[in-house]
Amino acid sequence: MQTHIHPDLVGRPEILEADEILRNCVHCGFCTATCPTYQLLGDELDGPRGRIYLIKNLLEDNAISAKSVDHLDRCLTCRACETTCPSGVRYGRLLDIGKDLMAEKSIKPNMIRRLVISLLRFVVPKAALFGPMLRLGQYVRPLMPAALARHMPYLSSKTYAVPVVATPAGRVLVLQGCVQKIATPQVNQGLAKLLATQNVVVETLAAESCCGSLDYHLGAHATARQRMCRLIDQIYPRLNQVDAIVSTASGCGVTIKDYPEILHNDGEYWGKAEQIVAKLVDVSELLATYTFDCEPARVAFHSPCTLQHGQKITGVVEGILLASGFELTVVEDAHLCCGSAGTYSILQPDISQRLLVNKVARLVAQDAEYIATANIGCHLHLQSGTDVPVVHWVELLADRLRHETGDA
Ligand code: SF4
Ligand code: SF4
Repeated sequence: MQTHIHPDLVGRPEILEADEILRNCVHCGFCTATCPTYQLLGDELDGPRGRIYLIKNLLEDNAISAKSVDHLDRCLTCRACETTCPSGVRYGRLLDIGKDLMAEKSIKPNMIRRLVISLLRFVVPKAALFGPMLRLGQYVRPLMPAALARHMPYLSSKTYAVPVVATPAGRVLVLQGCVQKIATPQVNQGLAKLLATQNVVVETLAAESCCGSLDYHLGAHATARQRMCRLIDQIYPRLNQVDAIVSTASGCGVTIKDYPEILHNDGEYWGKAEQIVAKLVDVSELLATYTFDCEPARVAFHSPCTLQHGQKITGVVEGILLASGFELTVVEDAHLCCGSAGTYSILQPDISQRLLVNKVARLVAQDAEYIATANIGCHLHLQSGTDVPVVHWVELLADRLRHETGDA
């Protein structure tokens, strides 16, 4: 794709990077076939190729219309288009650069969207505020309008007893995640129980900062970078004390794996980010090295976009579940987003609900006893659309493990 960058933008490193990404696109349109918003809306500008043109126009005109911003806002950032693209176009990175430029131009969303975004950014990363609000929400849910109640997750009271590891064979630092530690803290407890069977000890950070994912995907890149640096400051001193850093929420994991790219202009933090990412693994990459013997069950697995498209981890969870004794159903259109996509379900409720209905229909089509997933956002979103129990796949292993300790 030929480009003529606006003279005011020429020479800026991120614009050069965007230009390079644009030049890789050969307009073939293969990506549109796997784009969830294009499939639903049928408008070229609500598909990746159209959005790439909109960002190209932004770089050439150094301006963008409100209508174009709406098309870009409707993108789920699921990155299914990256998986499909034969030319390796890094669409997610291009969109990030475009959003940075839009933020510079002070392009403001409408008032209601602005209020919702501000509220989410203020509340979600603050456990002391978010936790009590969610707990209060459990009581007032019956009084809420259905459209609002749908977004109020049911908090789990499940807990696991974690066996004591007398002689540790390994030590890992497990990240807790802002939403997961409030809504489904049992996921990391379940992981600690599983790892105890392998004599591996789990450590956590005392007051873990937000990874910055929420701010970053809402276009607040400066705040996001501050949060990222704060989390790096917390993890870095622990780096040499653990064998691995583990993320059990693929949405947080994919953002942290992108830290070196996001912080590439910051010499000090870029270097630290590189070292952290070298030790960071998704929980599936860690548990694939062990074997577990579980009571069988019939499971439909929903691989989050942040796992399959963002981290390019495919088939690993499925392999672990099969090796542990579970039966997997066949899920059609497994590459498509469930509509959760961070805050998308709140900011674009209509599209999100349509994607949810389609996704749940495919997940329950073969009578699964459980729907398993790997990210807190998908977990809560999917559960709002079905009575089939939705769990993090780590919970399934922990729930149905036949032997409680490695020595048993
Ligand atoms: S598949 Fe890749 S090269 Fe083809 S239009 Fe989409 S982004 Fe461009
Ligand atoms: S990230 Fe997802 S929604 Fe956005 S253009 Fe790509 S495939 Fe479509």
